[in-house]
Amino acid sequence: METIKNKTICVLPWLGITMAPNGDLFPCCHAMVFSPQGFANIKEDSLDLLYNKKSLQDIRQQMLSGEKIDFCKKCYDDEDKNVPSLRENVNAANQDFLNEVITNDNVTSDIKQIQYRDYRFSNLCNLKCRTCNAESSSSWYQDAKKLNLNTNSKVIINALENKTLQGSFFDQDFKNTKEIYFAGGEPLLHEEHYRLLHKLIGENLTAITLRYSTNLTTLKYLNENVLKLWPSFKRIDLLVSLDAPSELSSIIRYPSNQTKIIKNLKLVKLFCPSIKTRIAITISCLNVFHVSHLILELIKHQIIISSDDIELSLVYNPSYYSLDVLSTSEFTLLKDKMINDDKIFLENFHLDFRHEFKKIIQYNHQPKLKSRRDFFETGKKINTLRKESYELLLNETTDEELFKFICPQI
Ligand code: SF4
Repeated sequence: METIKNKTICVLPWLGITMAPNGDLFPCCHAMVFSPQGFANIKEDSLDLLYNKKSLQDIRQQMLSGEKIDFCKKCYDDEDKNVPSLRENVNAANQDFLNEVITNDNVTSDIKQIQYRDYRFSNLCNLKCRTCNAESSSSWYQDAKKLNLNTNSKVIINALENKTLQGSFFDQDFKNTKEIYFAGGEPLLHEEHYRLLHKLIGENLTAITLRYSTNLTTLKYLNENVLKLWPSFKRIDLLVSLDAPSELSSIIRYPSNQTKIIKNLKLVKLFCPSIKTRIAITISCLNVFHVSHLILELIKHQIIISSDDIELSLVYNPSYYSLDVLSTSEFTLLKDKMINDDKIFLENFHLDFRHEFKKIIQYNHQPKLKSRRDFFETGKKINTLRKESYELLLNETTDEELFKFICPQI
C-alpha cells in the first residue's frame, strides 16, 4: 500500500459527524472545541445535503491539498509531541478508504457512509460542575447569568428541537455505523438517547460500539432503565466523570452524591459485566492535589481494578481552573507528590498509572498571576452564590488560606 504523505488529511470529514447541543455539526469532537461554529447546523437543511455543504467540501479540499485546518490543532499538537492523534488512529483504521479519497480527489461524501457518530442531543444536565458552563449544562444557566458569564438564550437547548428534525434524524440509515459516542449535558437524561437505542435494537444494529461520557448519577429516565437496554449491545465503553474524593465531590461537581454514583457503578458492573467502565477525572487546580485520594477511594470500592481504569484530562479553559494558577513552588510540590503517589500505587496495589500521571508531571507549567487572581475571585463569587461548604472559611480568611484549603498539602 502506498504510504500516505499528506500530513493533514483525516477521514473524519468524510466518515464522521459530531452534533453539539445547539445543533451545530462538526467532523469530530476536537473540531467542536477549537471552532466556534460548525460547518452547518442541523436545523438548516436535510442531513444528506448538509453533509455535502460547500463549507464541509472546502474543508475536505483543504485537507486533500495538504493545508492545515485551524480546528485540527489538537491532532497536529499531539503529533508534534509524538502522542498518537485521533487523526492517525482513524486514518489507520480506514487506510483503503483514505487511499480512495486521495486517488479520486473526492470532496463529496454520503451521509450513509458515516461510521463515527458523536451526539450531544441537549445541554440538559442535573449537575453544575465548577469547571463546566451553561452551554454544556442547563443547571449552570442561573448561576452564569448572576455571575455575568456567557450563557445561552434559554436554559435548555436541544439539537432536535421539533418533530420534523427528530423525524429526519431518526429516519437515518445507521447500517455503516461502527461507533456512537453520547455526551451532553448528561446523556442518560436525554430522551433522544433512549429513542436511538430502541431504534438500534429494533433494527438489529447492536454490533455498533456505544461510548458514553456520563456523570452516572442516574440509570433511569421516565419509564426507561438503561440497565435493561445496554445488555443488548456487544460493546459499550463508559467514561464516568468523578473528580474528587467524596468529601470534596459535591463542591466541585455540585450537587453530586458520590455514594449514589459508586452504587450505580457497582450496579453496572453487576448487571452488565461486559461493559468497560473507566473513570474520567477532569484535572483542575481545584482537585489536582486530591486525585490520588479519589483513586484510593475507588480502589477500596473495587471500581478501579486495573491500570487503565482511569483517564485524566486537564482543564485549559477557563484558565483560572488550569494548573497555571499554581505558583512555581506549588507546582514543584505537586510534581513531587504525583511521582511519589505513582510509586505508592505501583508498590502497594500493582497499579501503574504512569501513563496518566505524566500528564500532570510533564505539564508545561507557566504560572499566571491573572489566572490565579481570577481563580480566587470566581471561587468567592460561586461560594457566595451557592452557599457551599467552605463559604464560612472565606469570611475569616485570606485568599491564600482558601488556597490552602483547596490544596491542604501546601
Ligand atoms: S484531524 Fe483531528 S481534529 Fe481534524 S477532523 Fe481529524 S480528528 Fe478531527
